[in-house]
Amino acid sequence: MEDNLKPCPFCGSKKLKLEKKRTVYKRHKAYTASVRCNCCHARGDTVINLTIPYAVKEDVEATARKRWNRRND
Ligand SMILES: [Zn+2]
Repeated sequence: MEDNLKPCPFCGSKKLKLEKKRTVYKRHKAYTASVRCNCCHARGDTVINLTIPYAVKEDVEATARKRWNRRND
């Protein structure tokens, strides 16, 4: 399980995974991250590095974690 993630808001599972992907967005190489529940396959917001100025991988992953946690508040 990933650290610092709240349980799934839908099924309460703590089997969460940070999915990271390289992709192409508007012809630019891009990097995305999103948190996914292994139990019910709920997915948090997908964060793409191109929307964060000067983002590095760690920023994208941290933002994906934050958005997942915010949904649970
Ligand atoms: Zn779930």
